[in-house]
Amino acid sequence: MKLFPMICVYTIGREPVRKEALRMEHAAATPETEKEKRRKLILLIAMLLSLAVLIISIVFLARIKGWAGGSESTSLLSIVDSETPAPEDRQQTLSFIDDEHMIDERCAADLERLLRDCRGAGFEPVITAAYRSASEQRELFNILADSYMEEGADAESAKRLAQKKIPLPGHSEHQLGLAVDLADGREDDQAQRELQEWLAENAWEYGFILRYPEGRERITGHGFEPEHYRFVGAAAAKQIHELDLTLEEYVSMFYSR
Ligand SMILES: [Zn+2]
Repeated sequence: MKLFPMICVYTIGREPVRKEALRMEHAAATPETEKEKRRKLILLIAMLLSLAVLIISIVFLARIKGWAGGSESTSLLSIVDSETPAPEDRQQTLSFIDDEHMIDERCAADLERLLRDCRGAGFEPVITAAYRSASEQRELFNILADSYMEEGADAESAKRLAQKKIPLPGHSEHQLGLAVDLADGREDDQAQRELQEWLAENAWEYGFILRYPEGRERITGHGFEPEHYRFVGAAAAKQIHELDLTLEEYVSMFYSR
């Protein structure tokens, strides 16, 4: 008889406690699910953002390093020399820089700026060479080789002699459309020297470098060409100028060929 009321008290007292526990459990479970959803959403957004950053980085690097395939634009840092020809199937947009010379449109505005400031400094810069097609390069080469043959050289020696002054067809930087030869229109030696000094000091600010400097023939494979400037873009030109490098040294230091 004494046990009955105790059981009743225990049972009656326990029922609300159990219900309360269930209610609290349910209440706790609902916000947890919402929290979980939010966490998953944030995780998804973070993953998508990381993926976007990765894709942008790869595209950016590909443009700088010239990873682009054969039909893409030539990299601004492409090296064309006696061993490496200019890619034949590249896509290129050329623009006229004066009545007869064309250049890759990626450097046209900077070249115009350079010419304008050069005139502002008192010079009379004229372009003596810019973009050259493969057939124009071949023609130039053949004219020089023929002149050696007329002087008595056999075909093989004439070709070898011509190659010392003009790159073989397919192997000139001018075929990239990123190189320009500049002279002073006044055509006296002093004017040429002064213009070349101004260019050597200032061209980098417009993204151009003196491509074949004096004393670097062993690295570039070319004799000193004080008139020949190559567009590499503002950032590369600044570093090449500040560190006093050739394009070959710059590319092998910062990029693998
Ligand atoms: Zn040149």
